[in-house]
Amino acid sequence: MQPAVYVTTPIFYANADPHIGSTYTTVVCDAFARFHRQRGVPTFFLTGTDEHGEKIAEAAAAAGITPQAFVDQVSARFRSAWDECGIAYDGFIRTTDAHHVGFVQDVLARIHASGDIYFGEYSGLYCVGCERLYTEKELVDGRCPQHLVPPVEVSEPNYFFRMSRYQDELRRHIESNPDFIRPEGYRNEALAMLREPLGDLCISRPKTRLSWGIEIPFDRDYVTYVWFDALLNYPSGLDRAGRMELWPQTHHFIGKDILKTHAVFWPTMLLAAGLPLFRHLDVHGFWSSGGQKMSKSLGNVVQPLEMRDRYGMDTLRYFLLREMAFGQDADFTEAALVGRRNSDLANGLGNLASRTLAMSKKWFDGAVQPIDPREPVDVELERAFARARVELEEHVLGLAFHRALEALWRGLDAANKYIVETAPFTLAKDPAQRPRVGAILHNCLESLRVAAQLAAPFLPETAERLRESLGLDEATFADLDRAWGRAFPAGTATGEPVNLFPRIETDGAAKAGAPATGRPSRV
Ligand SMILES: [Zn+2]
Repeated sequence: MQPAVYVTTPIFYANADPHIGSTYTTVVCDAFARFHRQRGVPTFFLTGTDEHGEKIAEAAAAAGITPQAFVDQVSARFRSAWDECGIAYDGFIRTTDAHHVGFVQDVLARIHASGDIYFGEYSGLYCVGCERLYTEKELVDGRCPQHLVPPVEVSEPNYFFRMSRYQDELRRHIESNPDFIRPEGYRNEALAMLREPLGDLCISRPKTRLSWGIEIPFDRDYVTYVWFDALLNYPSGLDRAGRMELWPQTHHFIGKDILKTHAVFWPTMLLAAGLPLFRHLDVHGFWSSGGQKMSKSLGNVVQPLEMRDRYGMDTLRYFLLREMAFGQDADFTEAALVGRRNSDLANGLGNLASRTLAMSKKWFDGAVQPIDPREPVDVELERAFARARVELEEHVLGLAFHRALEALWRGLDAANKYIVETAPFTLAKDPAQRPRVGAILHNCLESLRVAAQLAAPFLPETAERLRESLGLDEATFADLDRAWGRAFPAGTATGEPVNLFPRIETDGAAKAGAPATGRPSRV
């Protein structure tokens, strides 16, 4: 386990609501941060909004309000969406925060003083949507491949960052640190980018053309935005929280669409600023929808907040983390989500919880009974969960979140099989077997306790409901190393049976959009 972790999402551009990509990155970061916090590792998780630039200024003008009023609204919407999703971030940065503006200006002044920022002529083919220049080679039929519009020709004097000076140093760093960019495919892509001449980076706009940025400290006629503004959020957000000691433990989680800015631009900026490089750039793939790229024209755009309202946040989290192998692309369909909900969540976990709690209530009025340690089959169950924990932890550290959940579900499978094999329903008919039935139930409760603890970073609402149903106090539940058989003192009372994940009827409730859980998903 690492000594500390600093986890970041990209900051999201404040001109739209959360989409499936930003939701996935944020859920991964949240689970990763919760996992480390739960193991006592000092953790800081930062997310936020990117609020400067031409697109914002244009959207604000179209809405008839000032850019500041516009970003205040959008940023607040982002923040409340994450709050409603139960995302436990430690810091939320806005690039219009006074602290961030000061931080950016300090770094710019330092790099300017050291000679890595110079004044020159900026000319070329510019896409307003992307806010960057394109080379002829990058265009598709003369159009921006992202926005499908022809770029405009621009030429104006601007400030440049001498990025090319750091190309070799960055290449050597990536070559000698195999886990700097993960998974490996993206590392290779970054190295390929660095085999081409890098060029320098235009970092300014004259205020006459764009005023909605951060004023350049050594030239009041210019603003900076995008690179030196947005990318510097990572150290500035940590600095504002007074946690800069965590900087060398940084995990940047991003989608592959912003690989170049984070694998090339960003580390060269850090080298120029004299800041240590981040530890890992962790890159995930894209979600398609029903086998096709999501697009408004196809009408197949997945709305994550709608999915949450319909199925509950933990079902959405489970699906996102279980369905996508981190780094690769994955497909989102509501049918696949319902399938996972019914087979894994309702059958695997929900069923174990409701059966165990029902038996405990029915035969012992919820009072937890002692375990007889001489039963070999019980020891096998305990070992199954010990194995699940070891595998889950390895997979989380290796970013294989889907494998981590698989490992946990092997433990749940062992518990469900244990109930079949030990047959407490049959034994309970014989009063002489009462101690044995009590012991079997205790083992089932331990299975649920460990499963809930291990699941907590991924399914936080469910883990909390289970903790309450099991009658465990928060301190006991927080103790991952509590020995099997030592979590429930004799006389502990379990609660009423819960139905954690009611099955979704595939041609009824799901289509009608009826709430799937007995409890509102908003927290
Ligand atoms: Zn574009």
